[in-house]
Parts: sequence; structure tokens; C-alpha cells
Amino acid sequence: MRLAVTGLSRAGKTVFLTSLVANLLAAGQGARTLPALEAASGGRLRGARLVPAGTESTPRFDAAGHVAALAADPPRWPERTEDLSTLEITLDLAPASLLGQAREMVAGGRRVTLELLDYPGEWLLDLPMLAQSYADWSRGTLARLRRGRRAAAAAAFLDFVDALPDRVPDEDAIARHGYMLYRDALRTCRDELGFRFLQPGRALNPGPKGEAPILWFFPLPKPEEGGLAALLARRHAAYLADQRAAFFDPFFRRFHRQAVLVDALGALHAGEEAFDDTAEALAAIAAALRDGGGLFDMLTGQGVKRVAFAATKADHVPGRARDALVGLLGDLVGRDPAGPLGAATSVHAVAAIRCTEDDVAVLDGRPVAAVRGLLLEGGKAAKVYPGEVPLRRPAPDFWDHAFFEMPVFQPPRLAGDGRSGVPHLGLDALLTALIGDLL
Ligand code: GDP
Repeated sequence: MRLAVTGLSRAGKTVFLTSLVANLLAAGQGARTLPALEAASGGRLRGARLVPAGTESTPRFDAAGHVAALAADPPRWPERTEDLSTLEITLDLAPASLLGQAREMVAGGRRVTLELLDYPGEWLLDLPMLAQSYADWSRGTLARLRRGRRAAAAAAFLDFVDALPDRVPDEDAIARHGYMLYRDALRTCRDELGFRFLQPGRALNPGPKGEAPILWFFPLPKPEEGGLAALLARRHAAYLADQRAAFFDPFFRRFHRQAVLVDALGALHAGEEAFDDTAEALAAIAAALRDGGGLFDMLTGQGVKRVAFAATKADHVPGRARDALVGLLGDLVGRDPAGPLGAATSVHAVAAIRCTEDDVAVLDGRPVAAVRGLLLEGGKAAKVYPGEVPLRRPAPDFWDHAFFEMPVFQPPRLAGDGRSGVPHLGLDALLTALIGDLL
């Protein structure tokens, strides 16, 4: 059973996978760390273990190293993973029925192997690109890049493409220079402004192949005229063909279940434009997952059976706000009763590692729901009133008074080096929605 996990960049993917592995292993030892999953399996989970690395060439997700960072003194957040990586866990289950017990005596117990696959969130946004021509992609991308704060971040690139004469010849030096400017603009948008709808994915995260010439394309204002446009259109097509051959076909096609992580709170914190951008990116991903003109069907072959969208780092807000967060994410992905190709879609708010407790703060003399935790910087205890989480995509006037506090908390100290699990919020409900039927 292949479970793919991805997220828009910085969504908390590394932490999520680390917690998922640590908690599944602990649950296999009898720790009650995933109660909803335990209930769904009828308490039949008897063991869980990591499958030793085989001979495959894909890098392995370093779960043990990441848990060790969390178990250090003081606890540290794990280093981010940038590349595609996999890890397999087998879950041993007791049989459910007498017939099953008889079968087990003959054949041994029931075993489910979970193949976890972690891929860069940036690449997820190549999915909507597959349905567009170079000209359509150019127009959409440039229109987005000219809006608001992006325009300033991309000024050097925009000045460059706007100054190109008509019918530029297909000179590689121009293509390469334009690409460098474009890539730098994307990096600034991601790292300094918190934007997420940035394409192509490998411009931001080149993956194992590095920055090959196949990447040297960028959007043009007149994408149908001249030699340069033809060259860039060829590269755009070659890039998509390569992503399909190197990633979508060998990996993406084979997923059975997909978790998509979104730092929706971080997007609220980053402000209106960054939030709208995240919302647009999510809508495009959800549409591509839903169908995209049969695209996903074609890509996935056997079809993803279940998709779970999760708003991460939900321990930054208190209980009621977490419910609102589920509502907000549901609104952003445009919950569709049919779901992607009839696949069951669910929406969650999770904290893969819970760093806070719910508390009450006083704001203007009135009690408000807050959270309490240790700040990473300085290790001091702090009570944080994060601000309101809107139930759905907020109207423009929301931002007039929006304030949203989102400090980095210190991870909690783990009992038993993490072997007895990692505190979380809602990870078990998410896992139940994704794989509960298999147990
Ligand atoms: P990635 O880039 O998607 O792999 O992101 P990471 O998993 O490395 O997470 C980035 C940062 O987000 C971490 O270093 C933490 O500071 C924070 N973070 C991630 N998950 C959680 C969580 O469940 N709770 C809290 N409080 N912070 C989290």
C-alpha cells in the first residue's frame, strides 16, 4: 500500500513523517499513541517495524535521525528533507475472525506493508502545468507575477522580459539569463514573501538531476512569437515530459493514498496576498487531483483511493480554532462531494508534534482562548493568543484587523527517546481516514 505525503513547501512534511513513523512503531509496541487508528483496527495491531533498506536507488527517509533530533537535549526540530525519499513499514495484524485465525495458523498473520513516499511540495505544482500549453502557462504565470508584492520581488525579471524586442532569436544565452532572473524571483517570492504558487517545481527544488538545461525556460509576454518563444515552448514541453518520466510515472502513478499538507496558519500569518496565493495553489492542486480533464486518472492508472488534506501545525491555535481551521481548509480545497475520481477526500487539522497546551489569555480585560508552550528561542514559557481563524476564505475586510501570532515553539521533551511515541493532535484521525480500511 503506497502512501504518498506531500505539502506546499515548508508545510511540515518532515516533521509529519517523523511523527507518523515514530507513532506507528510505538503503537506496534502496544503504546496508545494513535487511539482512533487503534479503534479502527479493532485493537488488532500487534507489531510494526521498519523494513531494512533494499537495493533501490531512491534515498531513504531518515526517521531515526529525525527522532534523535527531537529526543536531544534541548529538543531540536529535524532538518528539512529536500528530495524524494521513501521508507517502508510493515504492520502485523491479528486476524479478525475465527476463520482468519485458522488461516493464520496455516499462512502466518496478516501483514500490511506501508510504503511511505515523501516528495517535494514544489513538484506538486507541476501537476496543474501538465494540462497547459506553454502559451497558456506563460499568460497565467506572468499575470500572477505582476500582481501586488510579487511584482516588486520579480522586478528584475519583469523588466527583462518586458524589454525583449519582438521576435527574439532562439539564443541560449538569453534563455539562460532569463531563467536565472526568473528562478531568483521565484526564490524571493517563496523565501521572503511566503508565496507558494510558483512553477516549475524544479526551478525551486531541482532534485537529483540538478539544474539541467531543460529548466531554462520562463514565461514570455508574447509566448507565440519568435525563435526564443519556440525554444522556451520546447523546453517547457521537455521539462513536463521529463517530470512525467522521472517522477509522475514511476512514483506518482503508483500511489494508492495521498496526504497533502498545507500550512494554512502560516499563510494566515503571512498576510492577505500570501494567503490568497496559497489558496490559489491549493485550488489548482485539488482540481488536478480531482480530475484535471482525466489527467490524474491517466497519471495514476489504478487511481488514488483516498486523499486527505491536512492543515498542519494546528497546535498553534486552541481547540475551537482548530475546528475553524478544518472549515477553512475544506473551503480552500473546494470540498467536492464526488472527490477526486470518486476517491474519498477528507480534511483535517493536525499537529504532527504537539508543542502546546490550550490555555486562556486576557485580551482587553476579557478572557480569550490561547495556547501555552516553550518558545524555541530562549526556551521561555509563553502564552500566545494567535488570533481568529476564519471559518472560510476570509473577505477582504478581514485583513484590515487581522493579526496572527505564530512563534516557533520548542518541541516537547520525549519520554523514552521517542520510542513510546510522540505527542500529536489529530494524526490518528487522519491516518484512520487514509488507511483505516486496510487494518
Ligand atoms: P518541510 O519543509 O515541509 O519538511 O517542513 P518541516 O517538517 O521541516 O517543518 C518546518 C518547521 O515547522 C519545523 O521546523 C517546526 O518549527 C514547524 N512545525 C512543523 N510541524 C509542526 C507541528 O506539528 N507543531 C509545531 N508547533 N510546529 C511544527
